[in-house]
Amino acid sequence: MSIVTGETQKKVTTAAHVTSELRKFAFHLYRHTMDHTSSTSPLSVFRYCPRCGSTQFVTHNFKSKRCEQCGFEYYFNAAAAIAAVVVTADGYLLTARRSREPAQGTLDLPGGFVDAGETLEQAVVRELREETGLSVTPRRWLLSLPNRYVYSGLAVATVDSFFLCDTDTSQPMHAQDDVSQLQWLKLEEVRPEEFGLDSIRQAVTRIKEMPLSQLLDKQ
Ligand SMILES: [Zn+2]
Repeated sequence: MSIVTGETQKKVTTAAHVTSELRKFAFHLYRHTMDHTSSTSPLSVFRYCPRCGSTQFVTHNFKSKRCEQCGFEYYFNAAAAIAAVVVTADGYLLTARRSREPAQGTLDLPGGFVDAGETLEQAVVRELREETGLSVTPRRWLLSLPNRYVYSGLAVATVDSFFLCDTDTSQPMHAQDDVSQLQWLKLEEVRPEEFGLDSIRQAVTRIKEMPLSQLLDKQ
């Protein structure tokens, strides 16, 4: 016996429809971001089955390939990456200049890929030490954005998590690793278009829209 009334059923149907539409939109966005037909997509670059070497390694759908010889399946999942949002009490943002491709020479936020076996927070601490020499404390997760990072002819799908971090600004800092220069820039004067990576540019745009008190968690 159903206890769902007509009105409730309508709401359930509407909610299911909205969820379905959102899923379709997310799928569209993903496909747009990670064009699986491009020459740098792993679906194009990985031509042979990594298990048996067969050439019968065929695209199964937009995110996977399957070997018709041995049945091996490869899923093109997103790699986790992090970026640090370090803002001082007087409104300066820590920025880095990229010393390597992709987007060499453009502005960036310090950060990088998460190693296997590492938490997002541990990756933030490690990457900041490697790139800046600074010891930072991740205070809280801020937002996440998908990205497409082309390296060595291969597009890596990433999901970038942005963390608000605290640091002692009297520490010496040095641009190291894949960073050529570090700069504290007045947040209101930061120009998002100078950030070369899509997800970082979008994040910086959103960070600039947030009140400083919110970034400092002093409301
Ligand atoms: Zn195979």
